Amino acid sequence: PELASVVLGGTVDVLDFPKPGIVFKDLMPLFADGAAFRRVVDGVIEHFGRESFDVVAGVEARGFVVAAAVAYATGVGVVPVRKAGKLPRKALSATYELEYGEATLEVHEDAFVAGQRVLVVDDVLATGGTAGAALELVERAGGTVAGFTVLMELGFLKGRERLAPRPVHAMLTV
Ligand code: IMP
Repeated sequence: PELASVVLGGTVDVLDFPKPGIVFKDLMPLFADGAAFRRVVDGVIEHFGRESFDVVAGVEARGFVVAAAVAYATGVGVVPVRKAGKLPRKALSATYELEYGEATLEVHEDAFVAGQRVLVVDDVLATGGTAGAALELVERAGGTVAGFTVLMELGFLKGRERLAPRPVHAMLTV
C-alpha cells in the first residue's frame, strides 16, 4: 500500500500520448525523485528476495533504469532486452502484435547461462505483448524466469493473463 502510493505519487497521466485517446502513464517523475526511486527499487528486491534470481533483464528502455538499479543493489549482472536491430552480436528475436502493426524484441543468444534464474523488469505492464515476448526470449536463450515485475500494471488490459503461469508482480495496479 505504501509502495503503491509512492508509485502513484511519481506518475503523471499524459493525455493523447502517443496517440489520441491513449492516457500514457509517465513514471519519469518517479525515476527523477531519489528517495522514491530508491524506495521502489528496494521494494522490488524485498518482494522477490535477493536469493531468488541470478541476473536481471531489463526491457528497453525504461526497464533498463529499474533493472540496472536492482542488479547493482543485489550484486548481480544486468542483461538488456532490446528493440530490433540494436544488438551487435547474434540475437534471438520475438515479434508480437501491437494495436496497429507489430514490434520485435531481441536478446543476445548467449545472454544467459543455462538454468540461470532471471528477474525480468519493466516499468509498465499494459496488454502484456512486450512482457510475453521478453519472457519467451529469456526462456529460448536458456534462462529460467524467476519472475516478471513492473512498477505499474494497467489491470483493465489483462496483460497478466498472457503471462501465466509465470509469477507476475506489480507494485501498483490501476
Ligand atoms: P504492452 O506490450 O501493451 O504490455 O505495453 C507495455 C510496454 O509499453 C512496456 O515496455 C511499457 O514501457 C510501454 N507502455 C505501455 N503503456 C505505457 C504507459 O502508459 N506508460 C509507460 N509505458 C507504457
